[in-house]
Amino acid sequence: MRSIDFEQASDPAHAIRLAQQPNTMFIGGGTNLIDLMKGDVEQPVRLVDINHIGLADIHELPDGGLRIGALARNSDTANHALVRTRYPLLTQALLAGASPQLRNMATVGGNLLQRTRCPYFTDTAFAMCNKRAPGSGCGAREGYNRVHAILGASPTCIAVNPSDMNVALAALDAVVQISGPQGARSIPIAGFHRLPGSMPQVDTVLKPAELITAVDLPPPAFSRHTHYLKIRDRASYAFALVSVAAALDMEDGVVRQARIALGGVAHKPWRVPAAESVLAGQPLDEARAVQAASLLLEGAQAYKDNGFKIKLAQRAIVRALREAGESV
Ligand code: SF4
Repeated sequence: MRSIDFEQASDPAHAIRLAQQPNTMFIGGGTNLIDLMKGDVEQPVRLVDINHIGLADIHELPDGGLRIGALARNSDTANHALVRTRYPLLTQALLAGASPQLRNMATVGGNLLQRTRCPYFTDTAFAMCNKRAPGSGCGAREGYNRVHAILGASPTCIAVNPSDMNVALAALDAVVQISGPQGARSIPIAGFHRLPGSMPQVDTVLKPAELITAVDLPPPAFSRHTHYLKIRDRASYAFALVSVAAALDMEDGVVRQARIALGGVAHKPWRVPAAESVLAGQPLDEARAVQAASLLLEGAQAYKDNGFKIKLAQRAIVRALREAGESV
């Protein structure tokens, strides 16, 4: 048995100070971290409890956007009146994730940092996992890789980001607010998560002791025509094989601008600006949706067990765009 120090932070500055000690992790809802600690995947020697530092508020910004505190629970965020009415895509994605009990505990900041559910990562019985033990190899590349990436993978890792929320945030151009020992900074969501490259053990661009304080959403342009489509092995409490966050700004049947993000296919939510441009200024029809899907999936590469994902993603994108176009 290993002992773990547990310290309760009183405010964000206190939390950041405590986190500068070696082998220290923040704990909020703990819905992912505690599982990983039980399995010896994560082995912190110190936990800093951030549940009493504020940061759970959701409020409108002066520019008409929305600030969601990092410690807002997933349920509270999904059901907040301003989120439901102005950013329904985020509500749909949050409610597609996990179970009601988990959503009541999980925080927005923690959801951003969810780790992959690659079974070779979460089960220490497997020796090879570059993400868990850098330099050990990747068990999934030659192993069972049905749920793994088709885009953006590297020779060292083919894992996918498991979060539904992150896919909606990517489509909505969210900005992650950070505080740390060197001060505050803002990171657009597109640059927050990393592709695996040669360092798959590093999921995000967060630096040591940096704390996510909030997620900002720009003023709503996509409150009417949105759809989050999640394809999974069972109807609830399962991670996405493929998911699509589609958001359209439309007038008289013509798309003014489009946002499409994919989940379950890469180490981070996947967006391709050219796929969105091809829809802009045009009526939404099947042919253009198919073209957008092809652009999104350009360069997709299948492994032994996950070739089905390419066709599945193609169809899911077309369907999500159709549903978004028809929704009001
Ligand atoms: Fe580990 Fe990534 Fe390979 Fe999975 S895909 S075994 S997480 S290195």
